[in-house]
Amino acid sequence: LDEVRAVDPEIAVLIEKELERQNSHIELIASENWVSKAVMASMGSVFTNKYAEGYPGKRFYGGCQYADEVETLAIQRAKQIFGCTYANVQPHSGAQANMAVFFALLKPGDTILGMDLDHGGHLTHGSPANFSGAYFKAVPYGVDDHGFLDYDQVKRLAKEYRPKMIVAGASAYARKIDFKRFREIADEVGAYLMVDMAHIAGLVATGQHESPIPYAHVTTTTTHKTLRGPRGGLILSSEEFAKDHQLNKAVFPGIQGGPLMHVIAAKAVCFKEILSDEFQQYGRDVVTNAKALCDGLVKRGIQIVSGGTDNHLMLLDLAPMRKTGKEVENLLDSVNITANKNTIPNDPKSPFVTSGLRLGTPAVTTRGMKTGDMDVIAQAIAVMLYEGESGEKKAEKLVKNLTDKYPL
Ligand code: PLP
Repeated sequence: LDEVRAVDPEIAVLIEKELERQNSHIELIASENWVSKAVMASMGSVFTNKYAEGYPGKRFYGGCQYADEVETLAIQRAKQIFGCTYANVQPHSGAQANMAVFFALLKPGDTILGMDLDHGGHLTHGSPANFSGAYFKAVPYGVDDHGFLDYDQVKRLAKEYRPKMIVAGASAYARKIDFKRFREIADEVGAYLMVDMAHIAGLVATGQHESPIPYAHVTTTTTHKTLRGPRGGLILSSEEFAKDHQLNKAVFPGIQGGPLMHVIAAKAVCFKEILSDEFQQYGRDVVTNAKALCDGLVKRGIQIVSGGTDNHLMLLDLAPMRKTGKEVENLLDSVNITANKNTIPNDPKSPFVTSGLRLGTPAVTTRGMKTGDMDVIAQAIAVMLYEGESGEKKAEKLVKNLTDKYPL
């Protein structure tokens, strides 16, 4: 940081402030995490200087011998973790991993069936605000009245609309996803199945969620959520079309230029960490903590969509308390708890207001917090929900005790 300070004191101060914010807050955003120092250092390495358009052994630039080794290691480790025969570690983000798969398997105007954003899906699964909804005919499916994926609806819509691809996976769904069932539906209508496991990839890597790999034609993920790596995307497959470079070509030159080699180095380091016993335990702890946090909220009378969680996240239904997600996000922020407002299924409120709040345990688990600490977090949240601003002092104290107990 001294080097940054010497060149740009304004940015150095902001980095310091962000570190202090992260240190002093309880991070409950389900898609965030803390990377290791090794991952961070790799991202800040000299590989940021290197152009390496192409793939290992087939580059458009000289001087790629070490970049080749890095990317090859990242690919090998990704394949080892998920038990598949193809991996592309170049997508700059989860959205770009998804875009590359669309580019490889579909033509503009083709029909896709993806989870409704309001029901927990991601923008890239067919939202009209995104390329996936703008260039493809997107049909949304959702959850039933109890908040569980409605596979009968998926099947009905698949038969009615005959999509070229079904997208399974979600950003705000707390229950297990039955990939086998999705594949059966896809096979019935001759569609590809793409699974976007961005949120649960770390749980898949540690056996806490069934793997989509045996069922999906292509699986995508981000590397920065439960996988605890650098910001980025990853595409996995074991299918034939991976062999004739269809997916590779879709990433580069299809939708990207030069790969971010420093990020790929950090992905390789993160994948090595994932293969350790420590990470296997981490996966178990994320899920145990999520259950403990959820139980702590439920026993304090707070409503959860679908009534609970099977994974790392939960969705609070604030409608019975006559509160909005926007309000509660701000309320919690005022006592150093970071979370995000989120629509709930059939939410009458806009995505900027919402009736829900999404909470997740990947980051607090990395920080070392245990199930007892989850109950303290639930207590602090309940204090703010029931007492509002008058509960601030009480909640702040609960939060500070925890952040002091687990310094970064
Ligand atoms: N897919 C899912 C299921 C996600 O939740 C997200 C991010 O929230 C993405 C894709 C997009 O990832 P990125 O933000 O890296 O583009």
